[in-house]
Amino acid sequence: MQPQQSQLLQQQVVVFSKNYLPLARINIKRAIVLLVTGQAESLAYSGQQWEVRSPSVVLQVPEHIRLTVSNPERHWKLPPVSRREIFRRDQHRCQYCGSHQHLTLDHVIPRSKGGTHSWDNVVAACERCNSRKGDRLLHETGMLLKAKPKAPMHPAIAFAEQFWKAQQPIDT
Ligand SMILES: [Zn+2]
Repeated sequence: MQPQQSQLLQQQVVVFSKNYLPLARINIKRAIVLLVTGQAESLAYSGQQWEVRSPSVVLQVPEHIRLTVSNPERHWKLPPVSRREIFRRDQHRCQYCGSHQHLTLDHVIPRSKGGTHSWDNVVAACERCNSRKGDRLLHETGMLLKAKPKAPMHPAIAFAEQFWKAQQPIDT
């Protein structure tokens, strides 16, 4: 059944790159702009379609659209190693004890021992864990990291992985 116009405008559309890589889930309003301006087209793969009406136009908006222009995500750059980006990656949790309180940045291999200020050597740590660890290497402290620190993935690749996972049939 066709939902109400107001509900309709809450729908999400998956946008694929020109090379058929699923990129992101976008609001239907953004999808309409891309379709109307010729920057995207319907994807045949698509299942559902929504009919969007304005006073002058009736538009069929599919669940999946494909960009007809080059992929803007190509210009994505790895974010700098900053408090904000590290805390975001680590979901504002100390990577040793899980605390959300008094977070600081910890160099897993201390800078004094040649550790770099890089995505794979910097984690969020609470003040308590950070001072407990001090200027030592992990194996000298008996402390454990919850996860191996990694650089963030290109958002389109992260989205594609998650998208294809969700498309798999349940009983295989
Ligand atoms: Zn902690």
